[in-house]
Amino acid sequence: MSSTPVLNALPDQELNPWLAAEARFSEAAERLGLDDGLRKLLQVPEQEITTYIPVVLDDGRLEVFVGYRVHHSQARGPGKGGIRYAPDVSLDEVRALASWMTWKCAVVNVPFGGAKGGIICDPTIMSKGELERLTRRYTANIFEFIGPELDVPAPDMNTNDQTMAWIMDTYSMHRRQNSSAVVTGKPLDLGGSRGRPEATGRGCLMVSNEALAQFGMKPPDTRVVIQGFGNVGGMAARLMAEQGYKIISIVEWDGAVYNENGLDIRALMEYRKRTGSINDFPVAESVDRAEALLQPCDILLPAAKENVITSKNAGKLQCKILCEGANGPTTAAADDILAEKGIFVIPDILANAGGVTVSYFEWVQNRQGFYWNEAMVIERLQELMVAGFKDTLRYAEKFGVNNRTAAYMLAVDRVAFASSLRGIYA
Ligand code: NAD
Repeated sequence: MSSTPVLNALPDQELNPWLAAEARFSEAAERLGLDDGLRKLLQVPEQEITTYIPVVLDDGRLEVFVGYRVHHSQARGPGKGGIRYAPDVSLDEVRALASWMTWKCAVVNVPFGGAKGGIICDPTIMSKGELERLTRRYTANIFEFIGPELDVPAPDMNTNDQTMAWIMDTYSMHRRQNSSAVVTGKPLDLGGSRGRPEATGRGCLMVSNEALAQFGMKPPDTRVVIQGFGNVGGMAARLMAEQGYKIISIVEWDGAVYNENGLDIRALMEYRKRTGSINDFPVAESVDRAEALLQPCDILLPAAKENVITSKNAGKLQCKILCEGANGPTTAAADDILAEKGIFVIPDILANAGGVTVSYFEWVQNRQGFYWNEAMVIERLQELMVAGFKDTLRYAEKFGVNNRTAAYMLAVDRVAFASSLRGIYA
């Protein structure tokens, strides 16, 4: 069974990520008793660009793509957020992702605001040359909108270190100087940080370790189901398996595999690299993709896309801990159901903040011109992720709210405080 029929059966409002982000913000603002003016200010983006990007395709045809870049808040520092390439990118989605970046940076206390970008395209049918021309022209179009002290993009779905290298180079050409700190997630040889490719998955591992401690559990007794075997899910799977967690199921867009004793993650990675799919991986059973998310496990780690856990399937989840590797995998309507079931949620704005944290380290290293070793990156990441986790739980206890609301309250509190200190320029 595919997840599409479930999504089709849900009202648009539940699936609209901007409305979901707004719902969470409003609840946090309400509980904090946030001043009305500040509430209005933080609810909306600061600015947003829609840009039309002409690209000459390999066959000589001219195509015009639509791209977006949204700045949600720069109250605590320059905007920060990825750029995604996908056919279903929308302005509402980019707005939601930009606001999540604001809250995420605030939860782990890194001095960035929130931004996000996207281009409506299907990168799977585009050549490397077409993607390069698309990326460079997009960068030129938004040139005044990005910069090391203004807005620092990073990779997201279907963009990678090569995309960042093209953006850095295009921006540097326009500036007539090397500007490595304009993007993060760059290749190591162009100023990337050690530990960046693993950072988001590693952050998921770090907060999962903290959650296990709350339950008095140990990794070898912990069964994990992961949706998405890409940067976040793949790295989380590998690092968790290395620490002894049992990864019993991996769910991808075209199939799911299961082994009750734990999958051999390195072998599965090699298998997928060789065959292009996780399907028919030896020493594993094939299972239904939608059912795989509902099987009994200790940690469910969605790391693929938005709107995976909805009011339709939340009641059927059988996990103890939901560690949200993806951005917005749970709809606002599903939150209450998870709370009723007593599922311990590590919300996305905390669980997947490892990526932006090491992006911050990359930006710092670029500006220092001094590069850290991997151990230093991991140690500092651990410090910020654990502090974010503890601060969130402290808010949950203090205000008697669930972890998601607590993380939003913590973030909104920090951003609102910075906004009030800055005041309103008139
Ligand atoms: P990715 O493209 O590397 O990996 C996504 C994986 O999910 C791919 O393997 C893809 O095949 C799979 N997938 C797509 N649709 C699916 C479906 N319907 N069911 C199961 N699997 C599916 O992307 P990523 O960088 O790992 O990002 C995944 C999520 O994590 C996104 O929500 C992204 O916004 C979020 N995120 C990423 C980072 C990062 O550093 N990369 C940081 C924070 C949050």
